[in-house]
Order: sequence, then structure tokens, then C-alpha cells
Amino acid sequence: MTARRLDGKELAKTMRGEVAAAVAARIGRNRRPPGLAAVIVGDNPASHVYVRNKHKACAEAGLASWVHNLSADTTQTQLLDLVARLNADSQVHGILVQLPLPRQINEDAVIRAIAPAKDVDCFHPENLGLLAAGHPRYYPCTPHGVFQLLIRNGIETAGKDVVIVGRSNIVGKPLALMLAQKRTAGNPAGGDATVTIAHTRTRNLAEVCRRADILVAAVGSPRVITADMVAPGAVVVDVGTNSLDGKLVGDVHPGVAETAAWLSPVPGGVGPMTITMLLVNTLAAAEQIEGERGVSDRSLTPPLYP
Ligand code: NAP
Repeated sequence: MTARRLDGKELAKTMRGEVAAAVAARIGRNRRPPGLAAVIVGDNPASHVYVRNKHKACAEAGLASWVHNLSADTTQTQLLDLVARLNADSQVHGILVQLPLPRQINEDAVIRAIAPAKDVDCFHPENLGLLAAGHPRYYPCTPHGVFQLLIRNGIETAGKDVVIVGRSNIVGKPLALMLAQKRTAGNPAGGDATVTIAHTRTRNLAEVCRRADILVAAVGSPRVITADMVAPGAVVVDVGTNSLDGKLVGDVHPGVAETAAWLSPVPGGVGPMTITMLLVNTLAAAEQIEGERGVSDRSLTPPLYP
């Protein structure tokens, strides 16, 4: 079997077109464009690439965006001052502080300082709490990108056995929450799946993974998920972004394509979807903050969810 490609690049293009149409319609109603402020501290090259890509994606979809470049020796107080100014700025609907931050800054304190309504990464404990309770204000971008990649390719999660390898706060854990939850009108990305979370203390990882109808790798180690860990016909989503011999590779070994029914490539799989979901959340933030509508899924045509 050669796996079908879960093409995030193509789907991201389609969905960014949908966001662009919703933004244009909003401007047609004499509303300001949704605005995203990105903050980057220091010279981490990967962080600069991520922020540049997000800024470019915003411009292409008609969103306003601003990048605040702060030096590596910025203090926590200076960063918190900037966050407070962005919280108060009515042109800014979404705030993104690119992680990781330099050692002298407490990431948790910065995340908590972002106004929850503007927390388009969905990292704030209030937003994670709402997500956990099944009443999401926003969905976190990478997990939501994975959900959209599945559902828009006709891969239903309801009733499926899903194994997620990785339990980080930004990928594995929130994705597990989303996929395990009941799908309702207020929680359209509830997956209704039976979810297992695997990690470094999991016994018999290969055996656990082979139980999956849908296997998600969010590990951060190049090519650790090998063909013997995948059931024939499974759907495999590779969230990993690792550098190997100067190349960007995922957590999934390419040999998995011979066993799986579907496989997301790296690059071109989850990465472009993550940025697209940030645009979706910024649009949703503008609509929620200005009280025009509920959530972005109702403002997009076709709607985000089936
Ligand atoms: P993380 O915080 O380092 O978490 C990695 C998780 O994988 C941990 O829960 C860890 O278990 C588990 N793990 C590590 N090695 C393992 C092994 N050999 N067997 C089983 N479990 C193992 O990483 P993250 O932030 O979730 O990111 C994961 C990957 O996704 C990275 O490559 C990252 O760059 C990528 N990523 C991509 C996007 C995108 O948009 N494409 C977005 C975010 C992240 P323990 O908890 O037991 O330590």
C-alpha cells in the first residue's frame, strides 16, 4: 500500500482563501480588518522564520499584523508592559508571543498576562480551562490544524481509536482533549474518539500504536515512528518538525507510507495548517471582541465544520 497524502499545504491554501473572503466581507461591513500582534524576543532563527511566515500569511488573507522585535536582553517587566499595551489596543484582536522566551523571562507569567479574549494561540489557562470543559473560546492552532486535516479529507474521528504520541501542553494534551470530547454545536471540533496518550513512560509503545485507527506523532524525534508500529490501513498524522542532516523531517519514518492508508508529509502537512488556524482564531477574536458574531466557523463559507 502507498499511503494517500494528507496535504496540509493544499488545504491551508483553500482555508486561507475562506478566511480572506470572510475578512473582505467584514471590511465590506465597514469593520476594521482583524489584527494580529506578534512579539518575538531574541534571535532564535526558527522563531524568526515562524513569525515571518505568520506575518506573510496574515497579509495574504487581508489581516493587519504587526511584529514587535525585542532584543534578547529584554526584561520580563518590559515584555509585560508591551503585552499590557497590546491588550489595550483596539486595533489588536490577537496577541502571539513566540516561544521559547529567553531564560530571564517566565513564560507562564507572560501567557497569563495576555487578555484571554486576545489569546489566539489558546495557551492561557482560562482558554485551556474552557477547552477542557467542552466550551472552547478558541481551539489551539496545531491540534485544530490536525482536526481540520482529518475531517476535511473525509476522515471521521467519531468512534475511532486514536493514539497520540506526546503529551505537551501545546500539541498532545489539547489534541487528546479535543478528540475525546463530545461533538456539539458549541464544540464542533469535539472528536468523539477513544483516545490514548502515549509518552516516554508508556510500556510497549509499538503495541499501543498498532491499536490506532488514527495515529498522531507529536514527539520531536526524527523518524521514531516506524512501519512496525502502524496497523495496516491506519491514518498517520506527523506533527514533528526536526532537523536531520540539514533537512526538515517529521517524527514518522518514510517507510510508514507502505503500511498506512493516509500519511501527512513533513514539510507540507500540519505546519501550514497551524498557521491557518491562527488566522481563523484572529478572525474569531475580532468578531468576538467586537461582538459582531459568535465564532468564526459561522463566518466562513463553506463552514469550518461538516
Ligand atoms: P515536547 O514538548 O518536547 O513534547 C514531546 C512529547 O513526546 C513528550 O510528551 C514526550 O514524553 C514524548 N516523547 C518524546 N520522546 C518519546 C519517545 N521516544 N517515545 C514516546 N514518547 C516520547 O514537544 P511538542 O512541543 O509537543 O512538539 C512535538 C513535535 O511537534 C516537535 O517536533 C515540534 O517541533 C513539533 N511541532 C510542530 C508544529 C507544527 O505546526 N507543525 C507545532 C508544534 C510542535 P514525556 O512527556 O514523557 O517527556
